[in-house]
Amino acid sequence: MECISKRSLEHCTCTYAACDKRGSCCKCVVYHREKGEIPGCFFSPEGERTYDRSIASLILDRSC
Ligand code: SF4
Repeated sequence: MECISKRSLEHCTCTYAACDKRGSCCKCVVYHREKGEIPGCFFSPEGERTYDRSIASLILDRSC
């Protein structure tokens, strides 16, 4: 099965440029799921830039 991480990078909305998981959605999801968090692409652009990936932060972000 082909890895599509290069294509995924084109639509990744995470602005944390230093992260080695950018574009590798499978790694990103596992990383944040194990921490009880949500990947950055679920947040609004403003919410994403807080780098707070907690569920509480997502609820606040999406209820504004
Ligand atoms: S959401 Fe988290 S794991 Fe995913 S690319 Fe951004 S900083 Fe990395």
